[in-house]
Formats: sequence, C-alpha cells, structure tokens
Amino acid sequence: APELAGSTAVVTGGASGIGLATARLLSARGARVACLDLEPDGVPDPLIGIRADVSDDDAVRTAVEQAARLLGGIDILVNNAGIGAQGTIEDNPDDEWRRVFDVNVFGIVRTTRAALPHLRRSSHAAIVNTCSIAATAGLPDRALYSATKGAVLSLTRATAADLVHDGIRVNCVNPGTADTPWIARLLDRADDPEAERAALTARQPLGRLVTADEVAAAIAYLASPLSGSTTGTDLAVDGGMSGL
Ligand code: NAD
Repeated sequence: APELAGSTAVVTGGASGIGLATARLLSARGARVACLDLEPDGVPDPLIGIRADVSDDDAVRTAVEQAARLLGGIDILVNNAGIGAQGTIEDNPDDEWRRVFDVNVFGIVRTTRAALPHLRRSSHAAIVNTCSIAATAGLPDRALYSATKGAVLSLTRATAADLVHDGIRVNCVNPGTADTPWIARLLDRADDPEAERAALTARQPLGRLVTADEVAAAIAYLASPLSGSTTGTDLAVDGGMSGL
C-alpha cells in the first residue's frame, strides 16, 4: 500500500504553490486531502477544496469540522497559508502588522486549535508549519514578514513540547526562494523582472531557485511516519542559503 494509505490531511493555502504541491504529493502517497484556501475553486481532483480565510476564527472552525467530516478524521495538518510583506520597521503601519500577523501566525494558532481534537484521535498525528529562512536570516526590507516567521518557528518548537505527550509531532520547513506564484508576483512588480530573477538566482548557492515540489517533499517527510522520531525541528529547503 502507498505510504499514507488511509491517512487524512488538511493543507491550508493548499490551492497554490507550496501548498498545492504538498496536497498533490500527500494524495499521490495515498492520503485523502482537503485544501483550505481563500480561493479553493481551482483545486484539482481528488483534492477537496474548502473555502476559508485563516484570519477568520469562525470560518476556520467550520472549515476544519467540514474537512474532518468529509475525510473521516485528521491525521496531518499542514499550516502553510501565508502572505508576504515588504518594508523596514518604519514602512508598515500598525494595521498592516496586525493583518500579516493575523494570517501568518494567528492563522496557525486558530487552525491548530480547531484541528487538535481530531489530531488527538489519530495514532500518527503530525503538524507541519511552513516557516521561512526569513525567521532567522535577518533579511533586509522584510521586518514584518521576518517577525511573523520568527514567531512561527518559536510556536513550532513550543507546540512540539506541549503536544509530545499526546504523541503529536510538530515540525516546520524553511523554504528559501521557491519558484511559486508568490515569486512570480514579486517579479511582476519589479522594474526589470528578468534582471530581478537573475539577481535572485545569483543568491542561490546551488545555482537555481527551489521548486515547490522540493518543499512539498520535505513537508511530506515530516508529515509521514517515516519521520516518527523527529519533532520540534526545522528543515531548510533553501538551496544552501542558510547553511553555507
Ligand atoms: P502562494 O501565494 O503561491 O500560495 C499561498 C496560498 O495561500 C494561496 O493559495 C492563497 O490563496 C492562500 N492564502 C493566503 N492567505 C490566506 C488566508 N488568509 N486564508 C487562507 N488561505 C490563504 O505562495 P507560496 O510561495 O506557495 O507560499 C506558501 C507558504 O510558503 C507561505 O507561508 C510563505 O510564507 C512560505 N514561503 C514561501 C517562500 C517562497 O519563496 N515562495 C519562501 C519561504 C516561505
């Protein structure tokens, strides 16, 4: 049987980029998968698309209950929904800080809380959060975004400590620059998109951008029983950016 046959998974931000690649991979390995997203309509079969904004507590509760009902439980939660923010500490007004924290950090808090009763019933529960190398890299012009990802890293470790008694593992992945619609939007906004892509590529020790499938493979590993002895860790998938 495929590795995740009989398992069930919820992936937030599962309609695009890293989330969609993860949902597809978990499904290919045998899991039944629900994608919670602002725009779930394009999610391909057999993935189940469910509309929810992770910054809306009621919507998250309803969506997670619907997912658990349709899937027959939740073994795996991938907290991947996230938004970007550019700027130094002076550039973003307080409202913007609240808005981005509300999605990138509180979105994980809400979705995890809502899923926990279901995860506790699983014999092999795992939570994987999509963090970023921004959590620790000290990137210029990314104060707000980096602060949210720093919080995701701490939250991952602390939650792993709390949930270890329930047998629920909690880990995160730290993508570097992953070639997703997110990066496409960033390049679209640049004065010279081709030059910007070349500049991004030049910063990659391995000489190319990370693919969504590579990040998905790391998430799928941390979500599967093959990583059964791993909890409270972060795994970089960043072309060598943080390690070299
Ligand atoms: P993406 O924009 O392609 O996909 C993000 C998905 O999240 C979209 O489908 C979007 O609709 C959904 N989403 C956004 N806000 C939401 C909300 N409030 N509620 C529900 N869904 C919401 O981006 P991606 O590159 O696949 O990024 C996914 C994650 O990876 C994010 O957490 C991001 O911070 C992280 N990340 C990406 C990169 C990169 O280079 N692409 C690097 C490091 C970390």
